[in-house]
Amino acid sequence: MADFETNTTLLRQLNEKRILNTVRQHVRISRTNLGKEINIATATVMRIVDGLIKKGWLEEVGPDDSTGGRPAILLQIRPEAAFSVGIELGRVYVRFVCVNLLCEVVFEEEIDMDSLRDIDHLIGYITGFIYRTGIEQSDVIGIGVAAPGPLDPIHGLLLATEDVGSQWHGVTLTELIERQLGIPAYLSNDADAASLGETWFGLGENHNDVLFILADAGIGAGLSIHRSIYRGARNQAGEFSHTIVDIHGDLCTCGRRGCVNTAASAYAMASEMRKIDPKFKGLGIIDIVKEAVNKTGPEQKIIQRAIEFLSVGVYNFVKIFDPDIVILGGRTLLFGDYMLAETIHRVQSLCKSDVSDPIIVTSTSFGISAVAIGAASLVLQQVYDHTQLIE
Ligand SMILES: [Zn+2]
Repeated sequence: MADFETNTTLLRQLNEKRILNTVRQHVRISRTNLGKEINIATATVMRIVDGLIKKGWLEEVGPDDSTGGRPAILLQIRPEAAFSVGIELGRVYVRFVCVNLLCEVVFEEEIDMDSLRDIDHLIGYITGFIYRTGIEQSDVIGIGVAAPGPLDPIHGLLLATEDVGSQWHGVTLTELIERQLGIPAYLSNDADAASLGETWFGLGENHNDVLFILADAGIGAGLSIHRSIYRGARNQAGEFSHTIVDIHGDLCTCGRRGCVNTAASAYAMASEMRKIDPKFKGLGIIDIVKEAVNKTGPEQKIIQRAIEFLSVGVYNFVKIFDPDIVILGGRTLLFGDYMLAETIHRVQSLCKSDVSDPIIVTSTSFGISAVAIGAASLVLQQVYDHTQLIE
């Protein structure tokens, strides 16, 4: 009996998610077409839709008289029914977004990472952020956090990394957020989150396999396969920054030589820039890159080398995984039109082959919010992705 009840509940939840996602994808759809689209009996569709309207997640619009017959009432998502908070816990900046059920940003803020003391300070900031959105805390269905690896997404744990302060090492972030705020929390690698956000709500929506290359303070890559993050056996997939593109190159922080990281990360670029121009010494790493991308002197050599390392790294990744689309983002690339355009051009030329459908290489449509929106999409995936239930 218990099994039967569990199965019935599971089946209802599965159908709810499929209905919500189909309505979202169609923007507006009738109950009849909804049933046909997902192959569920009309009576079941009616019952679940009634429940979702009562809950406030779906609403009726219309009627639609486009077919000439009896006009049908259409259904659409009620975007303001629930909200998700996404946080990019970056190496230099911490960006907060609040998105509605359609993943549209309704409020955002950014602060310096240095201004956050520890996890308690972060939780206090999240509470203040939700208050400033003007949204009831009970309408926030989840909080997603995206941070540079290494981390353990399953246990919501931040692991030791050279790039963020030691106060974050070994912090069970999701457990602490859930306990103190009473809101479900999710953790993911930053580039993974960005690839998931693009897959569900951005440029990757019509593609199965989406590669996101994040060139921010650090470099990362995230791969979503069939609308879910591919994490690998040890959650280490996409450790793009330590892929080797020059076996005789400079020594990397990981102890190997010629990793993408040694030339293309903002850290590497800033450290070279500081050597050639003392004026850069007083600036932060992202600001140095921002300043240098428009210069023509020796700074250009450093930029060119970064583009070269990054493009070759992306090319290697593409050759191994053959994604449908490569999306580039992160502050290092987005602050300079030249660097972005040149990287896209270089990757496209390297990937040029005789296959009939060339790979799409483009920049993110979410700008510098791509990681924070990706973090928010970790929550929204739970709303729309029925395969998450089965796993
Ligand atoms: Zn390395």
